Amino acid sequence: AKRAGRGVVHVFDEGMDEGIRFRRRIEGGLSEAIARGELSLVYQPIVGRDAFDVLGFEALLRWNTAEYGPMSPAVFIPIAEESNLIHELGDWVLGKALAEMQHWPDQYVSVNFSPRQFRRHNFVGHVMESVQRAGVSPTRVQIEITETAIFDDAERAAETLYKLRQMGFRIALDDFGTGYSSLYNIRKFALDCLKIDKSFIDGMGRERESAAIVHSIIHLGRALGLGVVAEGVETEAQVQALRIAGAQYLQGYYLSRPVMPTIARDLAARGRIG
Ligand code: C2E
Ligand code: CA
Ligand code: CA
Ligand code: CA
Repeated sequence: AKRAGRGVVHVFDEGMDEGIRFRRRIEGGLSEAIARGELSLVYQPIVGRDAFDVLGFEALLRWNTAEYGPMSPAVFIPIAEESNLIHELGDWVLGKALAEMQHWPDQYVSVNFSPRQFRRHNFVGHVMESVQRAGVSPTRVQIEITETAIFDDAERAAETLYKLRQMGFRIALDDFGTGYSSLYNIRKFALDCLKIDKSFIDGMGRERESAAIVHSIIHLGRALGLGVVAEGVETEAQVQALRIAGAQYLQGYYLSRPVMPTIARDLAARGRIG
């Protein structure tokens, strides 16, 4: 039994080593990525449900690594999030987004902040300083956070959100429905909109449960005076269903994939999709 146990531990260790080596590589690469110019942002339009007017864009980070080629943020953000690298990365994202949005007539930019960034000491002052330096009105900046960011230390988060809101920032709760927020607590937070996670939109046509969840979130949003964005909209049928359900805003490949800054600029100037 002992030998078998050791065998298992051994295999497990090797797997871990590889995982750790990969992480180390990513961390090393990320700390150089900014200086090497390997990072960029793409922008995905957020549109009104009826005329598909372009109201804003979500900024999404892209990393073209020297070693592995393009790497998904779903892979490297969680690694950055485990160290202070996330702050450097986040500062770069915010600065870049604020610079690039200045070419748009009046659309807002929606920027993702990880829980660690959100809990950073003096987060509010930090974001405000960046926005002032860029000469952008906070009303054109939406801060996207997840439920994880606010429910761990709800009291402190509520205060942070309140301050941000006072300064004019918009606040969106991202991936809504996938976290563990209680519907009851959500009213305590100063929010502007809920983003319904793609998984529920995907399921809408297939399962009653997903459709029911989408409807509930839309009703909740309405009751609390919040906007509701449906994420990951991929089909005409979903657009129709979401219109009937009463979602005000849509985002997803059906409307537009995330696009390069020059294309975003054209879409912003045109003011609508299609
Ligand atoms: P997210 O914030 O939920 O962003 C939405 C993701 O869904 C993006 O993936 C987007 O490209 C993708 N998407 C949008 N519409 C559709 C659709 O119709 N179909 C499908 N299949 N996918 C769609 P992406 O760009 O790979 O980003 C993945 C995640 O990485 C983001 O999820 C976000 O959590 C994180 N992330 C990206 N950029 C940043 C950033 O600048 N800072 C932080 N902290 N996280 C970021
Ligand atoms: Ca997001
Ligand atoms: Ca999301
Ligand atoms: Ca997500």
